[in-house]
Amino acid sequence: MAKTKFQALRGTRDILSPDSERHRALVDVFAEEARLAGYGHIMSPIFEELGVFQRLGDSTDVVSKEMYAFEDRDGSMIALRPELTASVVRAFVQHNPAALPWKAWYEGPQFRHEKPQAGRYRQFSQVGIEVLGSDDPHIDVEVVALGWRFYQALGMSQVSLLLNSLGDASCRPAYHAALETYLRDHFDDLSEQSQATLEKNPLRVLDSKRREDAGIIAGAPLMVDHLSAETAEHFAAVRAGLEALGIPYEISPRLVRGLDYYTRTTFEFASTALDNAQNAVGGGGRYDGLAESLGGKPTPGIGFALGVDRILLACDAEEAFPAPRTAPDVFVVDLTGGAEAILLTDILRRAGIAADRGFDGRSMKAQMKVADRSGAPWAVIVGEDEVANATVTLRDMHGESGQTSVARDALAATLNTRLHPEN
Ligand code: AMP
Repeated sequence: MAKTKFQALRGTRDILSPDSERHRALVDVFAEEARLAGYGHIMSPIFEELGVFQRLGDSTDVVSKEMYAFEDRDGSMIALRPELTASVVRAFVQHNPAALPWKAWYEGPQFRHEKPQAGRYRQFSQVGIEVLGSDDPHIDVEVVALGWRFYQALGMSQVSLLLNSLGDASCRPAYHAALETYLRDHFDDLSEQSQATLEKNPLRVLDSKRREDAGIIAGAPLMVDHLSAETAEHFAAVRAGLEALGIPYEISPRLVRGLDYYTRTTFEFASTALDNAQNAVGGGGRYDGLAESLGGKPTPGIGFALGVDRILLACDAEEAFPAPRTAPDVFVVDLTGGAEAILLTDILRRAGIAADRGFDGRSMKAQMKVADRSGAPWAVIVGEDEVANATVTLRDMHGESGQTSVARDALAATLNTRLHPEN
């Protein structure tokens, strides 16, 4: 039988160390920002009933073209989550928490059948937050600020915040009508795709990046000019809050974002360090109608999702947030056949010292080579003499203090002082 060599599927990748450690470190930074702001961690299933995601609206590509939806063994239709807001809102409705606002953060993989390219994958990771149960504009400010502070905590400085208001039930229908009339007046000049989008959702035409549409979109009526007094006031309060925090933003009146459910505050974070096509490193907004459409009580909500893979690309471009060090603290070179290394690495690891070792009873030279390659700043060498004297030889791999003999019982303490001289 032919030997088959498998590869990760198109649009998916293995993230190996140290990139995987960097990914985890990023999630840790996010978790800390979220904890400081009073958000609880939610871990929801990776797959859900298809209907949960269909509530996001079928004029969105994410739902209509990109979803990994399939029939389960019992005939029911399920889907891998393409995003997490719908799952979190479904969980909120299901568990009906008493204390509002309910604030949750998450991290994990999402799945979209997209055309893979740099910064665009079929399995990618997001971190995000959702807040349900309040439409206080100060919540909008808190949410946007959390995203902003997170990028800052990573050391990113080339991020811009684009802000818009999409109105709500009090003003969006009238705006929709005005926009639709305008677009129909220019129907023949629109791209074929936008003509089709217009039939489903005129607002999404504003999202078109096609050159043919640019002129028409530039002249289209804008939601921000059609806000009701109440939504305009809400938007003004959001802007004032961001200004009070010194968070710079740009009003982007054509920002509609990919999903249909957004109302009022909508925003996107873009990295100016990345090339234009894939420069969105995160985005979010209010979705005051989503809980109700998922069978819950009318409940306002707002949140964002930030793309981990893309943030790391932006960090590369800015030389920010390097991968954490993954080298062990010490490498044990055992010349007695390996039995000593079993004991020594165990002692060291229990003392909180990252210890690795050589295997396969290799020569001193071969083991030293591995020790060197491991990047460990210290090596412990143990041979028959050392075993007889209950000592080990401690070698400074960077050469500064050479080699010393240390009593075996004092090894962990000695290493801890050398590794952390400040304590
Ligand atoms: P969205 O859920 O579409 O609003 O996306 C939020 C963020 O997730 C985007 O700003 C991107 O950073 C990231 N993202 C979305 N789709 C992908 C993808 N296919 N591959 C990598 N990152 C993505």
